[in-house]
Amino acid sequence: MWKLIFLGLLIWLVIYIIKRAIKPAAKHADHTNESEGEKQHQEPVENMVQCTTCHVHLPRSEAFLVNGNFYCSRAHIENK
Ligand SMILES: [Zn+2]
Repeated sequence: MWKLIFLGLLIWLVIYIIKRAIKPAAKHADHTNESEGEKQHQEPVENMVQCTTCHVHLPRSEAFLVNGNFYCSRAHIENK
C-alpha cells in the first residue's frame, strides 16, 4: 500500500519537474510573439514622428505640426 503512494508521489514529482523545465521557455516564446504582433498592429495606427529641435521620437497624435515640421513641445517650436 505504501509503495503505491510513494510511486504516485514520485510520478507527480517527475511531472512537476518536467512542467517547470518546459514552462519558462514556452512562456518566453509566447511573450516575444505577442510583442511582435502588437508592434505590427500598432505601427500603422499610430506613426512615430521626430521632433525637429531635439530629435526625440513621439506619437504623431502628441506632436505639434508647424510648417511641415514636428515638435515635441511648444517650447521647441519657439526655439526654432
Ligand atoms: Zn523636442
